[in-house]
Amino acid sequence: TETLHIIGGGMAGSEAAWQAANAGVPVIIHEMRPKVGTFAHRTGSLAEMVCSNSFRSDDDEQNAVGLLHWEMRAADGIIMRMADAHALPAGGALAVDRDAFAAAVTDAVRAHPLISVAEEEVTDLPRDGQWIVATGPLTGSALAAAIAAEAGQDALAFFDAIAPIVHADTIDMSRAWRQSRYDKGETEEERTAYINCPMDREQYEAFIDALLAAEKTEFKPGETAGYFDGCLPIEVMAERGRETLRHGPMKPVGLTNPHQPDVKAHAVVQLRRDNALGTLYNIVGFQTKMKYGAQKAVFAMIPGLENASFARLGGIHRNTFINSPTLLDHRMRLKSRPNIRFAGQITGVEGYVESAAMGLLAGRMAAAEMLGHDLPPVPQTTAMGALVNHITGGADAKTFQPMNVNFGLFPPVDARGGRRGRMVRYKMYTDRAKADWTDWLGVRQAAE
Ligand code: FAD
Repeated sequence: TETLHIIGGGMAGSEAAWQAANAGVPVIIHEMRPKVGTFAHRTGSLAEMVCSNSFRSDDDEQNAVGLLHWEMRAADGIIMRMADAHALPAGGALAVDRDAFAAAVTDAVRAHPLISVAEEEVTDLPRDGQWIVATGPLTGSALAAAIAAEAGQDALAFFDAIAPIVHADTIDMSRAWRQSRYDKGETEEERTAYINCPMDREQYEAFIDALLAAEKTEFKPGETAGYFDGCLPIEVMAERGRETLRHGPMKPVGLTNPHQPDVKAHAVVQLRRDNALGTLYNIVGFQTKMKYGAQKAVFAMIPGLENASFARLGGIHRNTFINSPTLLDHRMRLKSRPNIRFAGQITGVEGYVESAAMGLLAGRMAAAEMLGHDLPPVPQTTAMGALVNHITGGADAKTFQPMNVNFGLFPPVDARGGRRGRMVRYKMYTDRAKADWTDWLGVRQAAE
């Protein structure tokens, strides 16, 4: 059988190699560490956790990331197997002993008879053969330049300037309203593409005070190069002048509040639809370095968002990722060079678990293709399918930003609202996902 080459032995690359090799395909992982390092990695181990030692919630009935754990375990994932083997007590979260975990993944992968590891930096996109690029948020700069040359400069980002994303059904529409600025748009849908939250002068001044006082995270040395073009954090805008935001992302012009048609808003916070389902909205222009706790407190001051729940909070980080909705097909292949797949954080998912999950899928998809097996599409009702569908099509390409798994990415289930309703609804999501994922795995096995 032909060899599958995987660039990067992180969360995604290790899992992709494991899955493909278990399907019977020989794999070479090309990993630049320990020869070439990054500002965040400390070791030469595969699957090094660069920051927190947590794989987040392990609740597979009420939490989307816990469901992703479940699906990866069902697919014999090596990341989950070793995480379970080296788990530390952490309440409902799956935290691990990071060094023991990475060593165990490294040993298992290196001991696999079909996997070998070449310690070398790959500096160009390969022309021939079957490849998976899983080089992560800190992709080597020569390879990043080659990807930019292939995909176009605009399709490769080096920073996340993440605007916070809100679950649409938690926005208080008795205070907010739908309208595009100056009612722009050809269709009714376009004319109502934004949700607007109004502030009076007093609310705006209090909001600016809170922004200035909020606790922020600092950049690491060498991390900031070039970030200041066009994606200033809101608190930096506020530092430049109390009126800056009112003339920027919070400008109140071209909007009329139907709840108070006679009152002119002093400032307006706008949210833009973030996915095809219309379940998620991002707060336009609100990238921030505020700490997560501070963000929740400050955003709760926005009229209409008092009780909002966030699919993800805002941030700005060094992060290399491609515009997957335009560049990748549903099988994670580069449309312009289908012998190259992408997996992990570089595809625009966010987090250890999501990265490993996309490695798992890419490894299986590559192996199936190389072995001539037919692999049906991953059901969107599963956590795996919801994520891969989001990055390869469901997300808006123009505003594409890295995404954590969350129930907003799933086709909605039919259930009543309310607090008790939410638990019932989440259980419906996870039950449906488990059944469909089990089926999909079964289909795959039957096809082999
Ligand atoms: P990685 O795990 O980074 O693996 C990529 C591998 O490719 C690396 O081993 C790298 O050495 C190698 N490589 C890169 N370029 C080349 C090349 N040209 N040739 C050969 N090898 C190459 N997620 C969380 O869930 N929790 C966190 O706390 C967290 N903290 C983070 C902190 C920082 C500073 C960063 C940058 C990211 C963080 N993330 C976190 C996000 C993300 O989940 C992790 O970075 C995750 O490891 C991504 O998995 P990956 O496999 O895509 O990339």
